[in-house]
Amino acid sequence: MTNPRTPQVRRTARSYWNEPAMGAWERVYLLEVVRGLTITGGVFLRNMWKWCTGRKGAVTVYYPEETRADYARGNRGKHVLVQRADGSPQCVACNLCATVCPARVIEIEAAFDPDDAAHPKSPASFEIDYARCIFCGLCVEACPEDAIRMVKDVPDLPGPDRARMWLSKDELLGWQPARDAAKPYPPRAAGAGSAAASTGSAR
Ligand code: SF4
Ligand code: SF4
Repeated sequence: MTNPRTPQVRRTARSYWNEPAMGAWERVYLLEVVRGLTITGGVFLRNMWKWCTGRKGAVTVYYPEETRADYARGNRGKHVLVQRADGSPQCVACNLCATVCPARVIEIEAAFDPDDAAHPKSPASFEIDYARCIFCGLCVEACPEDAIRMVKDVPDLPGPDRARMWLSKDELLGWQPARDAAKPYPPRAAGAGSAAASTGSAR
């Protein structure tokens, strides 16, 4: 009987659908090495020549003197908290984003307003620690309200002091205001109170 702890050795070689087909040229391994070195050396010398003649060579950004402007459209950059028409966050403080965040960098303090029947919960505070965020985008994927997005730009993200790299709710709401017309916020019922009644830590 086979011991379940004994690793099984695959006796037949597995073939993959995208297995590269090597011709005679590729099978002479040394020639491909020389070809690779020629390409790398050519790029290096071309960039070096541009550098020596005062032109920009390699794609290196000298931050903070220079900043890139050519981020891909789908780049996961700085977060934005989406606003409702009245400017309040669309977030309902459900804590899903903080729960799914693998780096555990989102901290939310929930507020509760019993007079707002449509959206009684909202974030009293919402903070992201950019010193530890890995820009995976899972928080955006997890949000059921489309309340948090990542735009392609990354302005002013790096900092010399880790303790100052927490982004507050106000900055997340206001640095690049975003609205979602598909999710209009129902108007508050006439005569309803305005202040949030109580707050509680959601995390
Ligand atoms: S992008 Fe990833 S690491 Fe950063 S806050 Fe969102 S879930 Fe966390
Ligand atoms: S941003 Fe979205 S997932 Fe995170 S607490 Fe707010 S509603 Fe929930």
